[in-house]
Amino acid sequence: MSGERRMEKARYWHPVADGVACDLCPHRCRLREGQRGLCRSRVCRDGVLWSEVYGHPCTLAVDPVEKKPLNHFLPGTDCLSLACRGCNLRCLGCQNWEISQSDPIKTEHWSPEDIVQACLRGGWPSIAYTYTEPLTWWEYTYDIASLAREQGLQNILVSAGYVNPEPMRALASLIDAANIDLKSLSDETYRRICGATLAPVLETLAILRDAGTELEITHLVIPGINDSEEQLTELCEWLAGNGFRDCPLHFSRFFPQYRMRDVPATPVKTLHLAREIARAAGIRHIHLGNVPGTF
Ligand code: SF4
Repeated sequence: MSGERRMEKARYWHPVADGVACDLCPHRCRLREGQRGLCRSRVCRDGVLWSEVYGHPCTLAVDPVEKKPLNHFLPGTDCLSLACRGCNLRCLGCQNWEISQSDPIKTEHWSPEDIVQACLRGGWPSIAYTYTEPLTWWEYTYDIASLAREQGLQNILVSAGYVNPEPMRALASLIDAANIDLKSLSDETYRRICGATLAPVLETLAILRDAGTELEITHLVIPGINDSEEQLTELCEWLAGNGFRDCPLHFSRFFPQYRMRDVPATPVKTLHLAREIARAAGIRHIHLGNVPGTF
């Protein structure tokens, strides 16, 4: 660890006439000298794309694995959890907007070796890449995960899954368990509430499923956005019909925050309805999140 600020050359980009084009996520930002990508964590300098947050986590914590949430992977254990600043989505109801929607800041430098050694010293069996969007700090996630795998640690990805297939496949080979947000089955809703599109997220789910990752899926139920009986039925039937019947499904309760302060909290009865709909569709493991007395 040190206080020195460093950057890492990004992977997944190519030069273009007036700068660089990033190939990491479907936004495919084209950046001129000095410009940052939409995720705020990748910058063009000297005709090269750099990860500005590599080695500079903004959060390091220890969480129960159930908080990710993962209810079927290493139950009862803690995981070392880390995040860097930045996200390639613009979710109106983001819980972590202070760190996801802000520019990089100078923090202590933690190399991948430092992170893995800290985890080994702590005796935790896994490292979780979480809180913001680990796929926008792909290089750091990948390098820590490689080293962690060599040392017998497990890797957990908590993500919205908005990334291009090639980097997702490369990372999936190192990921033991993942919780991926599926916000809606409507492309229009994705565009409206988080500035992303649906198809890449579905592709990420398929890549992780096919890689044999222990996959759990979270659906944040937001009143007036994705909480109708028809929408919930469509989502559950799609999951059941596309090879995700055995993936634990978490219905999470929305609370007003960030740019959705005018939207009320999800009524608990809506989550109970969602559970019934999922059961009827054949989903085998259903969990309710942010609801007292349930898990
Ligand atoms: S990862 Fe960031 S810089 Fe790259 S395309 Fe996506 S938003 Fe743009």
